[in-house]
Amino acid sequence: MTDLERRQDRSPVPSGWDYAPAPEARDILTLEERYGLFIGGELVEPGSGEYFPTIDPSSEEPLAEVAQAGKEDVDLAVRAARDAFENGWSDISPAERAKYLYRIARILQERSREFAVLESLNGGKPIKESRDVDLPLSAAHFFYYAGWADKLEYAFPNRRPKAIGVAGQIIPWNFPLLMLAWKIAPALACGNTVVLKPAETTPLTALFFADICRQAELPPGVVNIVTGDGRAGAALVKHAGVDKIAFTGSTEVGKAIQRELAGTGKKLTLELGGKAANIIFDDAALDQAVEGIVNGIYFNQGHVCCAGSRLLVQESIYETTVAKLKRRLETLRLGDPLDKNTDIGAINSKMQLDKITELVESGKQEGAEIYQPPCRLPEKGYWFAPTVFTNVAQSYRIAQEEIFGPVLSVLTFRTPEEAVEKANNTPYGLSAGVWTEKGSRILWMADKLRAGVVWANTFNRFDPASPFGGYKESGFGREGGRHGLEPYLSFEDAA
Ligand code: NDP
Repeated sequence: MTDLERRQDRSPVPSGWDYAPAPEARDILTLEERYGLFIGGELVEPGSGEYFPTIDPSSEEPLAEVAQAGKEDVDLAVRAARDAFENGWSDISPAERAKYLYRIARILQERSREFAVLESLNGGKPIKESRDVDLPLSAAHFFYYAGWADKLEYAFPNRRPKAIGVAGQIIPWNFPLLMLAWKIAPALACGNTVVLKPAETTPLTALFFADICRQAELPPGVVNIVTGDGRAGAALVKHAGVDKIAFTGSTEVGKAIQRELAGTGKKLTLELGGKAANIIFDDAALDQAVEGIVNGIYFNQGHVCCAGSRLLVQESIYETTVAKLKRRLETLRLGDPLDKNTDIGAINSKMQLDKITELVESGKQEGAEIYQPPCRLPEKGYWFAPTVFTNVAQSYRIAQEEIFGPVLSVLTFRTPEEAVEKANNTPYGLSAGVWTEKGSRILWMADKLRAGVVWANTFNRFDPASPFGGYKESGFGREGGRHGLEPYLSFEDAA
């Protein structure tokens, strides 16, 4: 560390800089009082007549009422998807199929401001993230898979790829629209039809997506959306008319689904939890690495399956790194998700806030040292200050369990071998990050880390062309890229 750096790191963080509010206009959005289920191209009432409120987690204000799908509704949706598959969708030419996907992608781009506002309102994430990450990436997935629709024979030569039929897709609340795009785009590109179950707390962008399907004149029944709690997801998993289940969510529910499907012959992909290590070597460009640490764990309030929630720092730079990190944390702005200056928005639900709070308490009790920058939490809504734990042992719950919140655990290592050992010491294996200036070390580490994705000198970088998925308890199967087509196809391998 140079003298100048030392002086910079010790100088007080400018705290008197008030940012004028810069709220995104909410009036771009018109919400209905109540939404039905999207089945066979129409919004229909649920059989039970049951609805539940969906709220804005930053204010706890209700936004709209959403239908609770029962078994009979899920059955109707699966039948609509089967009908659409057998009577049209599987027969149209792949190039025609691609046109629908391109159309959806373009409409998503055209309506991106409206969707970004809705995603932030219903999920609590900062508007700059929904505007700059969720929306562009969702559209990019549709564009990308539109390109594959008429090239499946080239993607899998001599294997005669064929659509599998009806895909049941269950998605979580952390990236509602993006997860929808990850699931629906490849399924449709391969010629399948879908029934999608969004998460209970964040159903609204999926219901607005139903409107995009109508706008794109997608044949009725190709996409069906059933809202509701876990019971609707369970009914979809159990339904005999579904040929494949794609699930993203907790490892616990993923395991239950795997047990349920054992022996049924249904295809399954699981994208589950993670406890990624973000590994900083002493030759890394430290200021960039600190930005990568912040992006790795505080992006989307840490509600990210591949979040860099365990920071492994080489011992020789431990103090400098932690000092720089704490200083950077003081500059993060927490508050109104619709304000363009906000870095950290609201926690998605009361349930998630309770889970984070409980795990943070366990960290304190087990002996870790907590740091939270001075920051005022709004009175209403669900909030958690960005948190760093130092003095963490590998056996602590905060170093082992997925917190899914803005909480970082810092550990140290001396040698690359020790870094690998500690990074792999988890039942998960979704992602990892390596920060070093040595290319050979990056390759050596990437080879040894048991993680589906290894980022080098960056973190949380996504691209539709790049496959994503896990090892061990993080699941199996890949989404994105050519690999992401495979789970939606059956093959008749040529002799
Ligand atoms: P879940 O795994 O419960 O939810 C994921 C999706 O599955 C939701 O749509 C959910 O519906 C649905 N679901 C719930 N139970 C069943 C079931 N028995 N059969 C089929 N589908 C079901 O995650 P939670 O939202 O409860 O979050 C709990 C924890 O999981 C978090 O704290 C976090 O640690 C982790 N998580 C990990 C994610 C990841 O991407 N890896 C994403 C989300 C959570 P509903 O919303 O109604 O419960």
